Amino acid sequence: MTRSPRTIAAANGIGRDAAFGAVAPPLHLASSYTFAGFERPRTYDYSRAGNPTRDLLADTLAQLEGGAGAVVVATGMAAVDLVLSRLGPQDGVVAPHDCYGGTHRLIAARAAKGQFKAAFVDQGDAAALEAALAARPKLVLVETPSNPLMRVVDIAAVAAAAKAAGADVAVDNTFLSPALQQPLALGADFVVHSTTKYLNGHSDVVGGAVIAARSEDAAALAAWANITGVTGAPFDAYQTLRGLRTLFPRIERQQQSAAAVASFLARHPQVAAVHYPGLPSHAGHALAKAQQRGFGAMLSFEIAGGTPAVRRFVEAVRVFTLAESLGGIESLVAHPATMTHVGMGAEARRIAGITDALLRLSIGLEDERDLVEDLAQALGQAEEAGDR
Ligand code: PLP
Repeated sequence: MTRSPRTIAAANGIGRDAAFGAVAPPLHLASSYTFAGFERPRTYDYSRAGNPTRDLLADTLAQLEGGAGAVVVATGMAAVDLVLSRLGPQDGVVAPHDCYGGTHRLIAARAAKGQFKAAFVDQGDAAALEAALAARPKLVLVETPSNPLMRVVDIAAVAAAAKAAGADVAVDNTFLSPALQQPLALGADFVVHSTTKYLNGHSDVVGGAVIAARSEDAAALAAWANITGVTGAPFDAYQTLRGLRTLFPRIERQQQSAAAVASFLARHPQVAAVHYPGLPSHAGHALAKAQQRGFGAMLSFEIAGGTPAVRRFVEAVRVFTLAESLGGIESLVAHPATMTHVGMGAEARRIAGITDALLRLSIGLEDERDLVEDLAQALGQAEEAGDR
């Protein structure tokens, strides 16, 4: 019987405990497992290689993304790195010029060591992508919507162009989760997640996952994750699975509030620009509508008044919290230039269009009226502090 993604998220693995009939899947913390006898290993022997709790999370994620298998690792960065581990010194990766700062830093650092060749490209610019693909890279990494500018990339178009050039495509689906976007169905070969964000959703676990379209790729990645020892901790997998149960209702509610916040900001005189794909004025609106099942709960905006206004705004918020990360039940504000994207360096930020006036919001589950009221009062204070 095929089950809907909502059912998979809410109930995969429920009531299947063979030992005691526990309804909630048990947490298996053991680091090693007995052999049944000489040369008779059981399903599991050592938790770095395989663990029932982590495997249940991997199975749930693979089903939600429509993949053949998944590997759960310690962090989102480890997930990005696991996909990059497929590349050798002669291979190339085409990455987005405005991706998450940590991804940019990782790719630049490994390329500088000669571990592969990297090109950072505006993937919304078809000519630039075509030029990068002419070098026959092995992998194209897509992040859509991008962090923090919320640019939307056409996954199906990039996948078709990449396939024609002999490249695999990996999509970082952290910003939307499989509840709102399924890149494998659009032609991607891999999906990458920072499960730290919407999948866990409660800001109390750092984790990552790679989901592969093909079972042989999933097996190869699982083997490499065991060799390098980046597999995720069982307790983290347990917590993440617990958070995942409510993924759909959380993100659906959060994106409703995000839409309200975006339309409030778009009308505010202290706001120079709003980046939210749900706004009809957003350059990626039509594409987002076509390839996503919702516009998500992340947005960014440019505040007028320079650094004094930025400083006053982040000091004035009361319902929002000044912190990195995203996708949790609480609303956060981050200043990418000094926080999430500081590792990219000023020049790469300039090329990507990440200005010092940009603020990123992750919308949580608070009442949207409180969120809008908080932004209104903080913008009012920023206006008084701003450059004139
Ligand atoms: N990918 C995206 C889009 C992110 O926003 C982040 C973190 O913010 C990561 C990957 C890295 O994930 P982690 O912090 O879990 O290592």
